[in-house]
Amino acid sequence: MPIASVNPATGETLETFEELDAAGIEQRLARAEAAFRTYRTTSFAHRAQLLRRAADLLDEDREAVSRTMTEEMGKPLTAARAEAAKCAKAMRWYAENAEALLADEHPDPADVADAGAARAYVRYRPIGAVLAVMPWNFPFWQVIRFAAPALMAGNVGLLKHASNVPRTAVALEELFVRAGFPEGCFQTLLIGSRAVDGVIRDRRVAAVTLTGSEPAGRAVAATAADEVKKAVLELGGSDPFVVLPSADLDAAVRTAVRARAQNNGQSCIAAKRFIVHADVYEPFTAAFAGAMRALKVGDPMEEATEVGPLASRQGRDDLEELVEDAKKHGARVECGGRRPEGFDAGWFYEPTVLTGITPAMRIHQEETFGPVATVYRAADLDEAVAMANDTPFGLSSNVWTDDPAEQERFVRDIEAGGVFFNGMTASHPALPFGGVKRSGFGRELSGHGIKEFCNVTTVWVA
Ligand code: NDP
Repeated sequence: MPIASVNPATGETLETFEELDAAGIEQRLARAEAAFRTYRTTSFAHRAQLLRRAADLLDEDREAVSRTMTEEMGKPLTAARAEAAKCAKAMRWYAENAEALLADEHPDPADVADAGAARAYVRYRPIGAVLAVMPWNFPFWQVIRFAAPALMAGNVGLLKHASNVPRTAVALEELFVRAGFPEGCFQTLLIGSRAVDGVIRDRRVAAVTLTGSEPAGRAVAATAADEVKKAVLELGGSDPFVVLPSADLDAAVRTAVRARAQNNGQSCIAAKRFIVHADVYEPFTAAFAGAMRALKVGDPMEEATEVGPLASRQGRDDLEELVEDAKKHGARVECGGRRPEGFDAGWFYEPTVLTGITPAMRIHQEETFGPVATVYRAADLDEAVAMANDTPFGLSSNVWTDDPAEQERFVRDIEAGGVFFNGMTASHPALPFGGVKRSGFGRELSGHGIKEFCNVTTVWVA
């Protein structure tokens, strides 16, 4: 895939970019190594000052940055603005909290004495240049979620962004440079995915983090393993949204629509499989399909638009194929199920609700990366739990119930990295984010995220 900015609402190519050649990659790796040598010794207070400056600049630039995101990948402009604001907030959160999160840890004095030491403690030290292989769906947030903790820990960042968001990738590097981070602390590598293997293998790269699809994650983690380097993977999800009889049904429906249609349906933590107790199945499904049908599809630059185009033609075609396969095997289309009329130039797809899903359909096991929901009927709590876990993925989950015993049952049994009751999954800097099963491994955000790329150093003094 060439590195190009293409407007998914119109199919128009806005700009193409030259890929970095071997000399260009070498120059940036050398800069990263040189930057790390001194940046690693800077104080938390200094790093925090730079990161707060970056947050301020991002706030000032919010409108321009948001328009760039919307033009390149099609998310509604209102959502792009919210994404930019969330990034500034996360940068300030890490500027404020990193020092305490990475403070030396002191074991129990009795254990220190038992280890034969007069003093012993744990120091979290930076590990070097971390490569981030990032996707286009939240083109600013996914990167800031990596960069803010990495830079506060004293690491330096290399970004290989998705090939369809080069303008955003360039804007990210500019943001950190303008904030005053020394040259080489955060660099964008305009390279295709084929060049990633060589970068991971370079001795100057200490570790890699990837957010994206399972094949990409497998390739990156395999190379990292071959080089004995740390990897964090945040891959796809097929999160369940379970509705039980005690739920506030109106609130559940409203949230279900947002949880499925956010970001034009292209979010790893979007609710994708709606598992509804038989007692409330009929009213929930009717109201949900009605509300999905009512969503305003259109030009993502318009303020009123709720669902824009998918980010790529391939993404739209893949989604369409999943729906067609389900229809062929007998799924019922409650709403949508086709491309909308009047939007021929861009890569639009109607908000869709499917019922009557069976294991013979691909959609039963595969991730739907677009505004397509599947609704299942569960006879009771046991079946709801079993259905929620009947997926290769395990990123997060949403459960609607007011019953503490039912909530506890999900906390105990759900095979996912998160469970959100009476709400939708959302990331927050203070809460860890990541999955189990085929959704990946490792965690981002919170203290867990910042420690992923630290050398956890034992200091022992006789
Ligand atoms: P990819 O996983 O292909 O892209 C994500 C990032 O990985 C991009 O930077 C991409 O670069 C890079 N990449 C892809 N293949 C390799 C490889 N073999 N080695 C190294 N880097 C690689 O996502 P797609 O855009 O193709 O989307 C496909 C599906 O992935 C979606 O439908 C969805 O299911 C899932 N996905 C999940 C996301 C999430 O948030 N968890 C985000 C995006 C996608 P390049 O662009 O140059 O190919």
